[in-house]
Amino acid sequence: MSLCIAVLTGVLTWSLLEYVIHRWLGHDRRFRGNAFGVEHIRHHIEGGYFAPGWKKLIVAAVAAVVAGVPAVWAVGLPTGAAWVAGLIGFYGVYELLHRLEHVYGGIGPYGRWARRHHFTHHFVDARRNHGVTSPLWDWVFGTYQKPATIPVPERLCMQWLKDPATGEVRRDWAETFVLRGDKQPGQVT
Ligand SMILES: [Zn+2]
Ligand SMILES: [Zn+2]
Repeated sequence: MSLCIAVLTGVLTWSLLEYVIHRWLGHDRRFRGNAFGVEHIRHHIEGGYFAPGWKKLIVAAVAAVVAGVPAVWAVGLPTGAAWVAGLIGFYGVYELLHRLEHVYGGIGPYGRWARRHHFTHHFVDARRNHGVTSPLWDWVFGTYQKPATIPVPERLCMQWLKDPATGEVRRDWAETFVLRGDKQPGQVT
C-alpha cells in the first residue's frame, strides 16, 4: 500500500468518525451525558461555544497513540504512521472548518455549501446533516437533508451573517438564511 493511499484511508477514517461521534455521541439520547455530548449540546445551545482547545489537543494526542500503536504493529511504521497522519490531520481540518463556519462567512462554493449544510443541522433539524467536512456519511446512513431556507434565531445569529448597517441577513446570503425572533423548543435532539 503506498503511503498516499494510507494517508487517504486515514482521511476517510476521520470522515466516518466525524459522523459517528457527532451523530451518536453528540445527539443520541442513549449516550447522553458523555463528555463529547455535553460539550456538543452546549455548542448547540450557545451557538458560538466551542470546547477548549487544550481538551481537544489531549484527546487528539491520546487518539494518535491509541490508533497509531496497533496500526504500526499491523502494517509497519511508514504505512501506519501515514494512516495516523491522515486521520489526525483531517481531524484538524474538520476542527478548523467547523470553527470557521461559525465565525467567518467563507469563500467559494465549498464554503457556501459547508455553511448551508451545517446550519441546516443547527437550525432546521439536529437529526440531519451530521457530516461537517462532507455529506458522504449522511448519504450512506440516510440522514442527508438538502438545505433549503434556514431560519436562524436572532440570539444565535452568526456575526458574519448579519449586515451591521441594516441588522438583517446580508444580501448575498438572503436566499438561504432568514432571521427569526426566537428559538423553537425541542430543536436539539
Ligand atoms: Zn456547529
Ligand atoms: Zn450537532
